[in-house]
Amino acid sequence: MHELSIALSIVELAAKEAHKENAKEVKEIELEIGEMAGIDTEALLFSLRIAIKHSLLENAEIKLHLISPIAYCSKCRIEFVPQNRFEPCPFCYSYGIELRQGKELRLKSLLIE
Ligand SMILES: [Zn+2]
Repeated sequence: MHELSIALSIVELAAKEAHKENAKEVKEIELEIGEMAGIDTEALLFSLRIAIKHSLLENAEIKLHLISPIAYCSKCRIEFVPQNRFEPCPFCYSYGIELRQGKELRLKSLLIE
């Protein structure tokens, strides 16, 4: 499962950060996930709950923030909200669009003790 390996690397990164701060425990972990990052959030959440076991994050509350997509057409110089990843520009129908937002997978914050 693709989400499990993502979860494991997130937990590893978070544990490393918490360790740097001499944390005893991580109370909360916040993640930002783009709606077009190709991540199944349910599966990710499930995987995270497995991945945090026996780590500094064991009792952490997991918060996921979804980021809605924004695409940009360089021909029309406009931004629009695409319905899917491969949608063309709604004005000129060009496929040369750039996804400016919506693909993120970021560790936003950690609440440590
Ligand atoms: Zn366009």
